[in-house]
Amino acid sequence: MNPALPHAGAGPRVLLRRLREIMAQPIAAQQRLNGIVELIAANMVAEVCSIYVRRAGNQLELFATKGLKPGAVHKTRLVIGEGLVGEIGRTAEPLNLTDAPAHSKFVYRPETGEDPYHSFLGVPVLKGGHVLGVLVVQNRMPRLYEEEELEALQTVAMILAEIMASGQLIHLDETVIDAQVLPIRPFRQKGVAFADGLAMGKAVLHANPIKVTNLIAEDIPGELERLAAGLTQLQQAIESMLSAADSSLSGEPRDVLEAYRMFANDSGWARRMEEAVRNGLTAEAAVERVQSDTRARMSRQRDPYLRERLHDLDDLANRLLRILVGAPAHPKMTQGAVLLARNLGPAELLDYDPALIGGVVLEEGSPNAHVTIVAKALEIPMVGMADGVLAHVNQGDQVVVDGASGEVHLRPEKEVAAYYAEQIASHKHQRAEFAAIKDEPAVTLDGCRIMLNVNAGLVMDLPHLDEVGADGIGLFRTELQFMVSSTMPRLAAQKEFYAQVLDAAQERPVVFRTLDLGGDKMLPYGKIRREDNPALGLRAIRLALSRPALLRYQMRAFLLAAEGRQLNLMFPMVAEVSEFRAAKALLNLEMGRLKRLRQPMPAQVRVGCMIEVPSLAWSIKSIAAEADFISVGSNDLMQFFFAVDRGNPQVSTHYDFLSPNILTLLRHIVRECDVSGVPVSLCGEVAGRPLEAMALMGLGFRTLSMPPASIGPVKLMARRLHLEKLQAFMEDLIDSPDRSIRPMLEKFAENNRLPI
Ligand code: PEP
Ligand code: MG
Repeated sequence: MNPALPHAGAGPRVLLRRLREIMAQPIAAQQRLNGIVELIAANMVAEVCSIYVRRAGNQLELFATKGLKPGAVHKTRLVIGEGLVGEIGRTAEPLNLTDAPAHSKFVYRPETGEDPYHSFLGVPVLKGGHVLGVLVVQNRMPRLYEEEELEALQTVAMILAEIMASGQLIHLDETVIDAQVLPIRPFRQKGVAFADGLAMGKAVLHANPIKVTNLIAEDIPGELERLAAGLTQLQQAIESMLSAADSSLSGEPRDVLEAYRMFANDSGWARRMEEAVRNGLTAEAAVERVQSDTRARMSRQRDPYLRERLHDLDDLANRLLRILVGAPAHPKMTQGAVLLARNLGPAELLDYDPALIGGVVLEEGSPNAHVTIVAKALEIPMVGMADGVLAHVNQGDQVVVDGASGEVHLRPEKEVAAYYAEQIASHKHQRAEFAAIKDEPAVTLDGCRIMLNVNAGLVMDLPHLDEVGADGIGLFRTELQFMVSSTMPRLAAQKEFYAQVLDAAQERPVVFRTLDLGGDKMLPYGKIRREDNPALGLRAIRLALSRPALLRYQMRAFLLAAEGRQLNLMFPMVAEVSEFRAAKALLNLEMGRLKRLRQPMPAQVRVGCMIEVPSLAWSIKSIAAEADFISVGSNDLMQFFFAVDRGNPQVSTHYDFLSPNILTLLRHIVRECDVSGVPVSLCGEVAGRPLEAMALMGLGFRTLSMPPASIGPVKLMARRLHLEKLQAFMEDLIDSPDRSIRPMLEKFAENNRLPI
């Protein structure tokens, strides 16, 4: 032990107990702070103990001191990065120095009278990865503080952070803290607009952070036991998740679990938490204390891979906190709330009651991922790729989700909130405008009828058909029913479901797509083998043909459901004509079987083919000779055309759909279909964006299928469009050498007063 500190380490436990006593006293904030610095100095045998608090303008202000001149309190200020205290504020790392004045960052402030003090130990006061202040002890004699002393000071800093953030010590209004520091000020982030619409509501965090209120341990061995038991439970939960995932998960989700397992079993992590408990914290406070370091590291980490890993560790700490405080895994949703998450799968979103969700904000996600498609189908405004929102949001904060611009506002200023309230009202008005043309057909000014269908997949989509006035269902994603069930839907359930869809559509056409599983669409109960490239793997029609029984079963359900009516079905991800033939042959077998059994048959069966793989675009004539209709799946076609993973936020928005090259391909498809006399439609997400829909009409598409919320805007645009004029305008544009013709099309729309 260092002779300068005879009682050092006598203990953080005693210190924490005394700290609690000070907190319980009915005294003013400044008095309390003074008491705290006295206490720390005495406990650590330090000649100086000072607390600096971060204020507006990124300044660290001396708020209390024992040992420095009292006149310096509220006078000495250091900006972040200035002096040793500022350096701790900048790096969020402790500084342990034998000879502080010799350090290159040292700045001398005469008002403090700190000349005689050589040794210096300073730690950041961290909350949620942000520096709220700095806590420093100093001694005259040059020496390096010991590891336990550093740990003790960090533990105290953690308690200080809780106190500062709760406003008990320094009233929050008294301290002008900038938005980067404490999540109490308005915060705005520009993400990417995933699903249109506006929402304003209370924040519900998908991984709701646990508020640890019990910080100081009463019974340390007992807390160590709780921590160990919590860790074991966490490890077991991860193990069982991994074994359950063995059969159904591959690729990235599995990697995340593997990383979890690695971290959950990391002895370094456990040791750091145990140490924090030994220093007098409760098990949950110890988890938070270590998590706080991780978050600080995360905010400084530039390497995306390492950031991800630190993020995993953060998630893991949240799980452990939940276990320790016995919190439920899923937060409660209230009417109109905004759900915030790092990322969500489609099933995770559906775990909530969609009727209650006002909007969704994702830190990651991708515009074409299935969770986005589900959000659009449910008309839930969604913004994705909103970097850093989770670090700035508190449960229950007011949140604005602007699904048109991609903006997210946390705790908006009064004026911003009023602006959005007005916008929401005007959206309502717009919806009234769409409602007014709901029963009118989409006919262009020069008399061309455009069929506007909806994409659907769940029972809850069906009422939209009437609500938005669609011409039919252009894409029914049958796999969604399979994905939301906990077991494989049986024949009767499938048949009943399809019949229900046809009933809801009444006379309007419905195009059922056969199961499009694999890729990112996994069944919770299915056995799917791990693949390195699931998007290019055994999915959609490939999977169906490799398991013909499943496909035939589904075909049987379609045929029975369509009794006496028209049945339209199509196959996804066909890459070559032979696959289409093979699938059609299975359908013929099923039809033959039903006939033999004298079962009721559909009045008419039409079989279509999706074009989602570029190779098939070069076999239109052959496919048209065998298919009754063709439907372009532009989401996948884009993915494979540009070799850009539609589910990967780093690249998914890299290429513009309005680029001459993909438009040329689409023009080729339309022309070939026209020559062959086979009807062609397009059913990707782009069909639902008025500008893109306009371009598609200009290319010759007369049938589009889109999310229900898009029917109104696209119909309004179509009814104001002079199609021939657009076609003439686009004629040469398609051959433009530009990367995208979006600006030109926008100009056309503006000149022709088209609402886009
Ligand atoms: C498509 O790929 O464009 C499509 C409509 O299918 P999904 O989005 O379901 O893959
Ligand atoms: Mg597809």
